[in-house]
Amino acid sequence: MARYTQAVCRLCRRETAASKTGEKIKLFLKGDRCLSKKCAVERRGTAPGQKTQNTKTRQKISEYGRQLREKQKMRRYYGVLETQFANYFHQAQRVKGKTGATFLQLLERRLDNVVYRLNLAASRAQARQLVTHRHFRLNGRLVNVPSIIVKAGDVLTIADGSKTSDLFVQAVEMAKNRRHPEWLEFSETDNSAKVLTLPSREQIDTPVDEQLIVEYYSR
Ligand code: SF4
Repeated sequence: MARYTQAVCRLCRRETAASKTGEKIKLFLKGDRCLSKKCAVERRGTAPGQKTQNTKTRQKISEYGRQLREKQKMRRYYGVLETQFANYFHQAQRVKGKTGATFLQLLERRLDNVVYRLNLAASRAQARQLVTHRHFRLNGRLVNVPSIIVKAGDVLTIADGSKTSDLFVQAVEMAKNRRHPEWLEFSETDNSAKVLTLPSREQIDTPVDEQLIVEYYSR
């Protein structure tokens, strides 16, 4: 499947330059680097290719432009391509209740996102790679599809062959020491994780206004 292969920090700089309030938009696509001073948004928040742009020269953005930018931002947070992203939205539309919240919940329930939320990977891109390389079992079955949507009660374990690798020994330490969302439980006894409930909107800290995306797709 085609993936975005250019420098991902450009995406954060693009969103930051388009931000109406001038706030720094960090998509956290590069693991620990995103938390360091090396983060490109911290060093320069200008749009890629526009070295001198600043808040005074920021262009006015239309309502459609705002909706489009929010859609792009959310899509990039979760690392999902356009068609699949739209499919999640249409899936959410068929569910009773608030479409925006259901849409966000579907993205949050992706297996690669769950691995990332458990801190077993430094970024969603790394989580995606770990899943495709068959490092996890879901309910006992070896899986390699990052887009699997988890359900309440699902149990995620590290594949036997991967448990002793340096990568996972460090990842498990990280998972033990960092906070993860309340809808997920990580067991230090057997290094497994369980989906306790489906995430509510309040439990999802992705800084997006999903209503703008609902408006974008409802045009
Ligand atoms: Fe975005 Fe992370 Fe790059 Fe900073 S380091 S610009 S948050 S991807």
